[in-house]
Amino acid sequence: MKHAALWVILFSMPVRPASVPHSNRPAPSTQFADNSEVRSALAWFARNLAWINEQQSRLTEIPAPPFQEAQRAAAVKLLLASSGLEVQIDKTGNVIGEQTGNVIGELRGTNEKEMVVLSAHLDTVFPPSTEIKVRHDRDRLLAPGISDNGTGLAALIAIARACQESHIKPRRTILFVADVGEEGEGNLRGMRALIEAYKPKLKAVIVLDGSGTDHVTTKALASRRLEATITGPGGHSWSDFGMPNPINALVRASVRFINTKVPAAPRTTFNIGQIEGGTSINSIPYEAKLKVDIRSESEDELTKLESALRECIAAGVRDEMESSRERSKGKLEWKVELLGSRPGGELPANSPLLAALRSADEFVGNQSRVERSSTDANVPLAHGIDAISIGAGGTGGGAHSLQEWYEPAGREMGLKRALLVLLGVSGLAEGKAR
Ligand SMILES: [Zn+2]
Repeated sequence: MKHAALWVILFSMPVRPASVPHSNRPAPSTQFADNSEVRSALAWFARNLAWINEQQSRLTEIPAPPFQEAQRAAAVKLLLASSGLEVQIDKTGNVIGEQTGNVIGELRGTNEKEMVVLSAHLDTVFPPSTEIKVRHDRDRLLAPGISDNGTGLAALIAIARACQESHIKPRRTILFVADVGEEGEGNLRGMRALIEAYKPKLKAVIVLDGSGTDHVTTKALASRRLEATITGPGGHSWSDFGMPNPINALVRASVRFINTKVPAAPRTTFNIGQIEGGTSINSIPYEAKLKVDIRSESEDELTKLESALRECIAAGVRDEMESSRERSKGKLEWKVELLGSRPGGELPANSPLLAALRSADEFVGNQSRVERSSTDANVPLAHGIDAISIGAGGTGGGAHSLQEWYEPAGREMGLKRALLVLLGVSGLAEGKAR
């Protein structure tokens, strides 16, 4: 970029509100342009695009179903360590006893009392039986998980390596983290553990999730996942006819629940995503279950909707008991359990992290819109720690499907944008500018 153009950007930068303390201000990306290490890191990406694509394919082909991220974690650990970082795997653990946790690579800053995190989740939504082989169709890479979160992981590794090879010395310590348990019933457990461990020192969290450069998630969508279970004695379809039936009760309850009115603003949604129960066509079932996902821009609406579900299940059971001909043959029981909950939160409009992102966007010539979504950034945002989630460049589609794809064209811009926002909040060690 020409010098004149840099000055225009520098002086057209929005004036930050006076309420932002000086020490928390991000360094504008333009300020870095004269720093030889930063210039070298930015140039590193273009020279290494083929290597980055290779790492993305290789990591994508290592299965990482929920709660089984160990093998992929080990591969990421090796890659971060070979970039010269000090790497450890924390003890977040998983339910099947295999020791997997978040992979954490540390690039020490001059101020070790303050930290910033760059993260990408390791896990996919795909069960262990899914065949994952990356196919090439002209410029397109196809495989389940190739974009979500193959792109994020490849970017995490590339940015770490670009920093190390360019001898970047940050002011705040940077943690490069590949975390477990982002998807579904993983319930953000990796990010929760990370925040738990580093909260007092953490100044900002940048989450790399999927592809693109078109958005920045600054608002955390709150959600809850619930499971309703109705049980009864069960019996024979002919000889026990009239006995209360858990599936009948669940159907009665479901019809009540889906008629619940939810507001358009704040946007609130519900989805019955799974329903199961029964053993055979000619048996009165002894159990029926239902899984519901509820989401809202407002925690209050979420709480209301959760109570509505409980009331509907209770009412469905009551309706079934009242209409059963053989109440003496048994009673129905019910319970509603919380499978997971993602807290809500919002990045303040005047946060230094958002200013750093805007500055990075401007530097690379990108425009991005603010979004609300459910990501790893929910956890730090709920704790009042500045956090965003962004795509890591290129384009992708079909996330969470077997037809998922990724096209690397334009990846470089996403990598530069992520590096600049990271350095914007970490700052650079003083005396390093040339
Ligand atoms: Zn993802």
